[in-house]
Order: sequence, then structure tokens, then C-alpha cells
Amino acid sequence: MVTFTINIGGHSISLDKRSVEAHSDFISHAHTDHITAAKKSSGIIASMETVALIREAYNIKPKISGFNLDIELLDSGHMLGAKQIYINNNDYENIVYSGDYTLHNIETAKKIRIPHADIAIVDSTYPYPSIKFDDREYQKNCMLEWIDHMKDRGIVLFSAFAMGKAQELVSILNGNGIIPIVSPKIAKINKVYGSFGVKLEYNTYGDMDYDEKLKDNFVGIVDTRKIFELSYALKNIHKKEVYTAIATGFSKFMRFNTDAQFALSDHADFDQATSYIDEVGAKRIFTYGQNKEVFAKNLKARGYNAEAFKESIKISKKITMLSAI
Ligand SMILES: [Zn+2]
Repeated sequence: MVTFTINIGGHSISLDKRSVEAHSDFISHAHTDHITAAKKSSGIIASMETVALIREAYNIKPKISGFNLDIELLDSGHMLGAKQIYINNNDYENIVYSGDYTLHNIETAKKIRIPHADIAIVDSTYPYPSIKFDDREYQKNCMLEWIDHMKDRGIVLFSAFAMGKAQELVSILNGNGIIPIVSPKIAKINKVYGSFGVKLEYNTYGDMDYDEKLKDNFVGIVDTRKIFELSYALKNIHKKEVYTAIATGFSKFMRFNTDAQFALSDHADFDQATSYIDEVGAKRIFTYGQNKEVFAKNLKARGYNAEAFKESIKISKKITMLSAI
């Protein structure tokens, strides 16, 4: 946890977006769509893990901000270093912004810590009540059973975001005695996880020669864009059986071009979102991100005082939150 409490008067903070009006830019975690402020920001607010991941994955050295408000960065459960920002606004309303979050226990992230606040600004990745994620243990077991079945028949290749999901998969596989082979891009991120105490066991292509790699079947984890190229090469050039899979919450409503798909998510679904809001005890809710309008509508239908976050809202005399969305 990092706390910023340096004395400067009135302050604007942007949330996971670059805004020229902001004095500081909060970056909740290091996924690509959340770090747009990192390059040009005069001062970012982020966890040490997020700063390390931004440096390693994007080769950007962001400037760190400091100012006078009581701010706490609280774990959001989503991935290594992912935080909510909680602002103790003294005589005014307390505010929390969730960033991407989940109430589930992710193997390679710290569990969410939910604060009490008057105002909650909540991510809208999954805005529909009809999308419900199954119990994580159940999803993991389905996935492991499938892997167990397929790895005796051929090579199993998972497609995953190089940051976050890939490390979850390595950890889940390690827990079941499997050491996967990962792409160099994933290995680079794994090392950052390792430097923050997340133990991951894996081999990297590049570190192994081709014959050794292809001698036996293996479980591989590759970046989303590489999976079909690699699967084609293994099938057609090396004459191996290859079974492909993906693990993402979007599996709940999208069909991917893989042999199997598992709805293993590191986001909150609608039910988790209402549990989060109830626990925060927020009197006003601002929905945030791409699906903010439909999410606000669905929350209102459940009786919540919710509205979509506009370009800029003035929350108190002391602080203004800005968004470029
Ligand atoms: Zn994310």
C-alpha cells in the first residue's frame, strides 16, 4: 500500500485516463487500456507493482505524484498491484474508485479490501445482471480436468493476456504439478511478479531447443495474438496434435476460435458489483468505463442511486475527479 499525503492545496485527479486538466493521474493497474496517462503525466498515483510493470512491459518511466489529500490505495483483487483509490475527504464525502476489481480470490493478486465511502465510482466491464460467473474453484476444476485429459493426447496451448491472466494460469498449473512453457513476453512479466514475491515456475521457448521442447507433449501459454500461428506450426510442420483453449470471463457470451473456453474472470460480474456497492455503503454511485450507461441503467432498475460518470464531476470543494472517457 502506498499513501500520498504531501501538502499542496486543491487538486484534480484523472482516473485511468490521460487528462490535460489533471494535476495527478491515478493508474489503477498496468493493463494497456488503463495506462494512457503514464507517458506524459506530470505525476501518476499508482502502486509500486504497477510502476514496475509499466517500466518492464511498456518501457515507460512514469513520474510519481505527491500532494496533500489523505489518499489510500487499497487492493482491488484484479491482478498484481491493482488498486482502488480511496479518498478520505475530511469534512466532505469520502470517495472510492474501484478500477478493475473482483471479489474472487485470484491466485496471483491480493484479495480486495473494501472501504466504506459515501461515493463509489465503479468499473462497468460486466454491466448485465444476466452474466454470472461460476464459482472460481468449479471453473478451475473444469479447466484442469480438460487439461489432464488433453495433455496425454497432444500439446495444450492456452491463449492469454501476457499480463495478469498468463500469471494466473501459470500459478494454477503449478498448483497441479504442471510447469508450463511460456512466451518470452510472458516470461518478462513473470519476472516482475517474482520480484514482488509471487512464485511462478515455468520454462520459456528460446531458453530450450526445439527438439527438447517437442520431444514430449507440454502445456504452453502464449500471447493472444500468437496462438494460431504457433498452433499451425506445431500441427503442420511438426505433425503434433494441438489443443487450444482460452480462459476469460468473455467466454460467458462470446465464442472463441479455440477447442475449449473457460469463464475464468478477474473482473466483477453484476452480482459482485452490487455486493461491492452494498459493502462500501455508497449513497451515490457513478458508473465508469465503456459500459457505464447500461450499467447505470441496470443499477437504477435495482434501486441504486446510480448515474454514468460524465467528463468531469465536481465532488467537493477540495477535489475534482476527471475522466477523458
Ligand atoms: Zn484490467
